[in-house]
Amino acid sequence: MTVSYDVIVIGGGHAGCEAASASARMGARTALITHKRETIGVMSCNPAIGGLGKGHLVREVDALDGLMGRVADAAGIQFRMLNRRKGPAVRGPRTQADRKLYRLAMQQAIEDHPNLVVIEGDAHDIMTREGCVSGVAMADGRMFTAPSVVLTTGTFLRGLIHIGTERIPAGRVGEAPSQGLSATLARHGVALGRLKTGTPARLDGSTIDWSVVGRQTADDEAVPFSFMTGRITNPQIECGVTRTTDATHKIIADNIHLSAMYSGQIEGVGPRYCPSIEDKIVRFGERNGHQIFLEPEGLDDTTVYPNGISTSLPAAVQEMFIRTIPGLDKVRIVQPGYAIEYDHVDPRELDMSLELRKLPGLFLAGQINGTTGYEEAAAQGLAAGLNAALKAGGHDDPYHFSRSSSYLGVMLDDLTSRGVTEPYRMFTSRAEYRLSLRVDNADARLTPEGIKLGLVGSARAEHYQAFEEAVTRWRLRLKTLSLTPNEAASHGLRINQDGQRRSAFDLLSYQDVTVASLRSIWGELNDVPKRVAEALDIEGGYAVYLERQESDIAVLRRDESLRIPEDFDYAGLSGLSNELKQKLSQQRPSSLAQAARMEGMTPAASALLLAMLRKQP
Ligand code: FAD
Repeated sequence: MTVSYDVIVIGGGHAGCEAASASARMGARTALITHKRETIGVMSCNPAIGGLGKGHLVREVDALDGLMGRVADAAGIQFRMLNRRKGPAVRGPRTQADRKLYRLAMQQAIEDHPNLVVIEGDAHDIMTREGCVSGVAMADGRMFTAPSVVLTTGTFLRGLIHIGTERIPAGRVGEAPSQGLSATLARHGVALGRLKTGTPARLDGSTIDWSVVGRQTADDEAVPFSFMTGRITNPQIECGVTRTTDATHKIIADNIHLSAMYSGQIEGVGPRYCPSIEDKIVRFGERNGHQIFLEPEGLDDTTVYPNGISTSLPAAVQEMFIRTIPGLDKVRIVQPGYAIEYDHVDPRELDMSLELRKLPGLFLAGQINGTTGYEEAAAQGLAAGLNAALKAGGHDDPYHFSRSSSYLGVMLDDLTSRGVTEPYRMFTSRAEYRLSLRVDNADARLTPEGIKLGLVGSARAEHYQAFEEAVTRWRLRLKTLSLTPNEAASHGLRINQDGQRRSAFDLLSYQDVTVASLRSIWGELNDVPKRVAEALDIEGGYAVYLERQESDIAVLRRDESLRIPEDFDYAGLSGLSNELKQKLSQQRPSSLAQAARMEGMTPAASALLLAMLRKQP
């Protein structure tokens, strides 16, 4: 018997879990098909969530009631707010995670989810009817029907592991690759590429000499990822810090021809900003050694992840070079490092809702779209799951995230308009409006939209509304409290002596003035809750800059709303170079905003395009 669902998600990784949860939250009857229940939520590589740019994505997933933030809070064992001393726009929450706790917390969240069932097995083919998706055929012959399918197979599509000259077909270590679905995509004329990524050896922490390595501690006060988490309860651990030595570099240089990456054995392109130790030695030279963080993988696990030395050298060479690193001279390797190559889809085949243009009803999310990282995968999963549910529910209009309101919008726009030449990772520098897209205001930016869409549950909606009411109430109060420059000076505040009264809210624009520092003047401010005070500090401190950015954002929103028809005739645009015409015809940007960001586009070319669009009927 064939069982029917509204949405089927294939893959129980970071993209798949968020996609399945988002779809189920939207009220769609959802099935999550994955190889094994017990590998749902597995972290394939580093045991950490968040960081710069990535932490923004986690907060955005959380603001839309997604799972990643809450799960990371349940599993976090070393919370740190990166860039704490820099401006609020570039701060990034990060935590190291206990691998087992993360996986178990994610599995629990999926098991307990209303509207969601898990089906174990290997999805082999996507079924179609009249050019649209109709369901999924399993390798064992079972069939499930659904009008929307989300594919989130990560590094599993024709995955091939390399360790030195050894090659093992695998999705990640110890797990079989997925072969059938690459053929499905190729059959539908979808352009596939090959990318690669790598991971370091895992070490037995009980054989590390911790007395000779440096230490990195957690923040004194752990700031949770989720707006719904009150307090972090896990004990917080320290990491070790060590460096490679001249001896390490010599062994790697002498054996570079044995590295899968340098012997010509790997065709796929890897991430430049997350280089292997071989890349570091060849490209950046030896300098003073390369830093390595020794990250314990769990509270009751002695395995250590040496962050910074991913490699595809033969296992024996790995052991040799690792033992030249201070603290690791007697270390036991639990599992050698490896590189993995896999198929990915050119994300320019997708529209902004992550639906494949060539096969309506099929949505793709995560590493399959040429990205790298758990957070990038989770955020795409949420967008794809939401849109898959909208489609299954008969809604004609997909939901598009804007660059002006989220990093999620920045990522989807980058991927679908520019494609990828190497695994795509989020950086704060990718966003034009960083000051507006902060980690602290992700809920203000996205939760109201999520409530309208039906993506956000009642508990979060109430929590958010109560917070916003408190911010509004206290903002108004701060605007009614005021003093003269003389009165301010008598309290030790150095402000312009221009005779003008200033409100407490205006005073926040002065350096070092915060709600907390105004408590000695107005005692009632002791009642402002901590997070409300933080929100007002940032709002008041950056009000002038935020207002300036508002007008740029309005221009972007206008350009995003100027849609370019799919069949627009770029060849007939006189005044553009042939190269640019060709590029535009190939990439088919969906809006003027997308076109303006393409490589080679000049302000003059955008103006020409705008003039032509205005002439369109
Ligand atoms: P995955 O987490 O890979 O999940 C895919 C899921 O799909 C799995 O559960 C699998 O069982 C299931 N699946 C696949 N095919 C099928 C099928 N046909 N039927 C049923 N189920 C299926 N990221 C970084 O940011 N930095 C790094 O340094 C880094 N290094 C990495 C090194 C290695 C060796 C690997 C493997 C990954 C690395 N990553 C790194 C990437 C990170 O692990 C991924 O970005 C992230 O896990 C992608 O999430 P995903 O949901 O797209 O896929």
